[in-house]
Amino acid sequence: MPHAEEMAAIGEQRLSAIFEIARLLAGQHDLETMLSRFLSCLIATLRAAETGILLLYEPEQDWLVVKDAQGYDLRVLSQIHITSGEAMSGRALQSGQPAVYPDPAAIAAVRANMSPTNQRLFEQATAALDGPQCAACVPLIAGTTRVGVLILENRSEPGHFREDLPFLEAVAQLIAVSIEHTRLREELQQVRALEEANRLKAELISTLAHEMRTPLTSIKGFSTALLLEEATFDAPTQREFLTIIDQECDVLTDLIHDLLESSIIDAGLLRLELQPVRLERLARDTAEDFARRSSKHRFLVDVQLPIVDADPHRIEQVLRNLVDNAVKYSPGGGMIVIRGTVEEKQVTISVSDQGLGIAPEHLNRLFDKFYRVDSGLGRHVVGSGLGLPIARTIVESHGGRIWAESRPGEGSTFYFTLPRPIDEE
Ligand code: ADP
Repeated sequence: MPHAEEMAAIGEQRLSAIFEIARLLAGQHDLETMLSRFLSCLIATLRAAETGILLLYEPEQDWLVVKDAQGYDLRVLSQIHITSGEAMSGRALQSGQPAVYPDPAAIAAVRANMSPTNQRLFEQATAALDGPQCAACVPLIAGTTRVGVLILENRSEPGHFREDLPFLEAVAQLIAVSIEHTRLREELQQVRALEEANRLKAELISTLAHEMRTPLTSIKGFSTALLLEEATFDAPTQREFLTIIDQECDVLTDLIHDLLESSIIDAGLLRLELQPVRLERLARDTAEDFARRSSKHRFLVDVQLPIVDADPHRIEQVLRNLVDNAVKYSPGGGMIVIRGTVEEKQVTISVSDQGLGIAPEHLNRLFDKFYRVDSGLGRHVVGSGLGLPIARTIVESHGGRIWAESRPGEGSTFYFTLPRPIDEE
């Protein structure tokens, strides 16, 4: 029996463990972090506990899966699926009762009904260790919900854990409630994100229908006019009508292209074909192309960058999208600057305009799918709200980053980085 001082020290340690767990409960950690902290905290607090395993119950499959383990190879253990009644943890799940296994014989007896696959994986995960001498196994139950099972083991000597059981039961309840709480919070976040995506999608469908109808109406109008038998148009007028039809077809093509691209990326089908790319040439070609199309804007290209490994078509797509936006969202014209800077590990390309700018609350969300800012332009700006999310996926697939800086009324600058190839000198 431990004497008074020792008892006081044990009491203090347990209290601090409960505080630590309560602190974890209050903090908004993700489930994985929380589980590993729980286990570390218990192993640090309980003298008898040297190794441990935390399993969570997955109701759809009706089994327990190892989510954290200390003293074991977690990668191997996480392949184990324990059914109700199987071994120590399955039994605790089934009975809802904690148990102490005081010696190796008791542990071997309870593990005897483990499936051969689990047995093999278990042996593999503990290959480097001596077998446990005693163990405690406590079910984690939040209210009436079975959440999981906690196992703590001592590998040095038999006979521990019996006096720890009331403390472990109390802690197990706290842990179970925190796990359930975190799970519910994560589920809620997912549901909210899904709802927001659905809302934006529904909005996009109605916006796109509208966006497509506008060019279609003018294509239909001008082609019907050209086909009218009772009206004849002189050559310049015919040319004017055909030019409008041609431009409106481009608008439609761009919209459909964005939609297709986005669904390709969603399906995980973005494939990059990396090759040495001269960004300067790419930037110049893009600027020249846009300069031909917009007389209101002046273009400046200041890009002297080393060659990078990238997919030239995809990077051109990103650059074009940024320049296209710079033109679209600076309806009064102005200067558009494409600039390149080089650092040790990356190059950064920026596209600045002197246009409408973006309010700070929108800045981070521009790269979300379907997100569009009401530009405040009297005239409607055609777009799908997919250009920047596509650009982000492309840049991130290259290992780069994309972001925007802006002040409303003073223009915007969009930046993206690409990693530089590792120097082989
Ligand atoms: P789209 O231009 O098709 O709407 P994007 O994904 O390319 O879609 O852009 C999302 C939104 O970001 C735009 O609707 C616009 O409000 C804002 N935006 C993008 N680029 C600029 C820019 N250069 N200046 C101001 N706003 C911009």
